[in-house]
Amino acid sequence: MSPGDAPEASPQPTLRRIEARPSEVGGITLRRAVPGRALRTVGAWCFLDHAGPARFGPGEGMHVGPHPHIGLQTFTWMIEGELLHRDSLGNEQVIRAGQVNLMTAGHGIVHSEDQVSDGGPLHAAQMWIALPDAERDRAPAFQHHAELPVIERDGITFTLLVGEALGQRSPVAVFTPLVGLDLVARRAARTTLPLDPAFEHAVLVLRGAATVAGEALQPGTLLDLGCGRDGVAIELAADSQLLLLGGEPFGAPPLLWWNFVARTQAEVEQALADWNGASARFGAVPGTDAPRTPAPPLTGLRLKARA
Ligand code: MN
Repeated sequence: MSPGDAPEASPQPTLRRIEARPSEVGGITLRRAVPGRALRTVGAWCFLDHAGPARFGPGEGMHVGPHPHIGLQTFTWMIEGELLHRDSLGNEQVIRAGQVNLMTAGHGIVHSEDQVSDGGPLHAAQMWIALPDAERDRAPAFQHHAELPVIERDGITFTLLVGEALGQRSPVAVFTPLVGLDLVARRAARTTLPLDPAFEHAVLVLRGAATVAGEALQPGTLLDLGCGRDGVAIELAADSQLLLLGGEPFGAPPLLWWNFVARTQAEVEQALADWNGASARFGAVPGTDAPRTPAPPLTGLRLKARA
């Protein structure tokens, strides 16, 4: 697809600093960088939570009870620690450092996420990928990726999370053109990373510090790079880690409410009624006796999608 086929895309590169905001999930505080007022999607990436790095005290850890999703893929990138995923399809999967869990919610799924050992370390990023119209009602699915392509270049270890980059292709199956890269440097390093100018991109420091396109960054600040770049200059300080996300502009932003990615308020209302009514759409999660997470009241939903 050429840039001319994406009418929503700004052809211009931008440099916007966006401050992540604190959010409470599963008993811990994390940083939510997307969505925000200023940036609702980066390609189909529509949600970005950064948890940790944290080391919990005895008996403390992250526990997210059974909750539903629709219309999205959850993409969990584990950096340190271990989480146990369970879902209503019967999957039970521990995810460890360097691994990805990809859950495709489609029409509807329920899952729980629990730190395996309370009192241990936790460092992870969880992203949501909005499904395009033709795929968003598909049957739910789950995949665990124990290994991903790793490229060493310019003193930086690149892990290819999604898409194609640096001559490699990720096995992670997505439904719109996307890229995701994790960069780690033990010693100070610099590189120029080639980018697809038809994609929009953003970067987030996961630990340490980086300078991207001349902007000095630390954890908590997302840098929106916009579209139209064929490369970006990246400098990493010693012991630093950076996440780069990109994709073909998604078009009109999807409607996000609670754990649902939809297009209309009626779809959100139906999913909420199905969850609250214990519909077969959202099955039980075997192996957990944690209570179902109650949905918040449907108030304040301002319908902006397809505006
Ligand atoms: Mn979830």
